[in-house]
Amino acid sequence: MNDPRRYVVIGGGLAGLASAVWLAEAGKRVTLLERRGRLGGRTHALEVPSLRDIPDNGQHVIASGYDHLFRYLTSVGTRQYVTFPHRGVLRWPGGRTTTMGTKGIRALRSLFGAHPDASLGDKLRAAAATARLGYECLRQPADLAEISTEQWFQRIGMPATAREALWDWLALGIAAEPVRQESAKVFADVLATGIRLGVKHREPVSIGYPTTDLDTLFVDGALRVFERYGVEVQYRAVARRILIEDGTVTGVRLVEGDVVPADAVVCAVPNSYLGGLLDQLPEHDEIYAAADKLGYTPIVSTNLYLDRPLGTEGAMEALIGGAGIIDEVFDRQRMHGRGTLNGWLYCLTTSGAYEQIHKPHDVVVEEQMALLRRYYPEAADAKVLHAQVVPMPRATFSQVVGTDGLRPPQRTSVPTLVLAGDWTRTDWSATMESAAQSAARAVDLLLKLPAPALAFDSHDRPGE
Ligand SMILES: Cc1cc2nc3c(=O)[nH]c(=O)nc-3n(C[C@H](O)[C@H](O)[C@H](O)COP(=O)(O)OP(=O)(O)OC[C@H]3O[C@@H](n4cnc5c(N)ncnc54)[C@H](O)[C@@H]3O)c2cc1C
Repeated sequence: MNDPRRYVVIGGGLAGLASAVWLAEAGKRVTLLERRGRLGGRTHALEVPSLRDIPDNGQHVIASGYDHLFRYLTSVGTRQYVTFPHRGVLRWPGGRTTTMGTKGIRALRSLFGAHPDASLGDKLRAAAATARLGYECLRQPADLAEISTEQWFQRIGMPATAREALWDWLALGIAAEPVRQESAKVFADVLATGIRLGVKHREPVSIGYPTTDLDTLFVDGALRVFERYGVEVQYRAVARRILIEDGTVTGVRLVEGDVVPADAVVCAVPNSYLGGLLDQLPEHDEIYAAADKLGYTPIVSTNLYLDRPLGTEGAMEALIGGAGIIDEVFDRQRMHGRGTLNGWLYCLTTSGAYEQIHKPHDVVVEEQMALLRRYYPEAADAKVLHAQVVPMPRATFSQVVGTDGLRPPQRTSVPTLVLAGDWTRTDWSATMESAAQSAARAVDLLLKLPAPALAFDSHDRPGE
């Protein structure tokens, strides 16, 4: 290790893990501070002790355009655990299903009319509206930041069948907010990113999923990298304040008062955890105000162990018309190839779960079973053997109308302090790719620092 400087990463979620891994790969001396007793942040495996099972804390679907996330997975040696099916399944009440192609001409056909009841007129209108949508993503009308995605769909004449079969569902998935309140600009920006990546990779962006649990995917490999490069991980280390003197970082004070010396810091905590961390940064008021306005949106995940299979046709099925109750059903048998000793495990996600988040868990389970019965004939007599409800009131920052332009860049006015985390400014909404991309940008900034810009004491040099 030629560089004696001490790099401290605050936060062991994906953004912090990726920052620590990439700094370590670059030969830096790294300490990672994590407030909890585990790494992974919002992506982690969650034990059900009575069953000795480890379903994840929520669904984490992966788009093929997640270039920075794939870079991370390659760094930690787990790239092989992500798969991209060639088709997606949409399911209507009563059990009717439609298969959507995710590649080539079949993907285009899905864009224009995946709804089984779409008339020829609907399909033509959907084609025209989709073309306009694409155009307006790349050449955005000035008022896009002031309207909701729903208002945008209405303005471009997207027919109801196309919205029901694809667009409302996709928009909810992208920004975890119902279309009536989601910012059209957030949706347009992500679609524009998707279009650019599709052109870059000469293939439309498609949706895939992990074939293993989230700890194996994101954490275990990182720990191996940390061991290889000597990264120090401090668990239950709650950072309280980043210390700055004469325009450079000097350390991180922990809640108990100890100071971890630092010459450079990546602050990779979510907007809702900033607290007083940045008090000594000149522009802290501005960043705190933005963090506050970005707020958060709730997601409820439910893991249901049933006494029989549901008769799914795909590993992930979107329930059409179920927005606000369940967006998607994940068949863990198909995803992970798991056995059924504890029953058939189905994982359900409810994004923008403003109502569900306050309900008792047994009520959530009851409501979701009632919904499954509407969509899956095989669920009519199914019994719940075990259920686990995972409410996440602060699942992601909110992307409602009025939040555009608030996300701060990774660079701060103090060159040795950079921000990371899904909520900082990236090409994506609140996603794992946003976390990974923010880390790539933050690390790049630190690696470009000229050596003299960092103050360090000669007695800290290894071997001196
Ligand atoms: C239920 C759910 C489903 C999701 N589904 C998808 C999906 O399908 N696809 C997708 O791409 N994205 C999805 N996301 C979003 C994705 O999980 C997040 O965007 C991403 O994981 C955020 O990573 P992060 O590192 O920015 O933040 P986090 O994962 O929140 O990590 C921040 C870390 O900082 C730690 N920390 C906080 N304060 C301090 C402190 N003072 N000192 C030390 N440590 C601190 C926290 O404990 C945490 O470990 C989902 C999120 C949820 C909750």
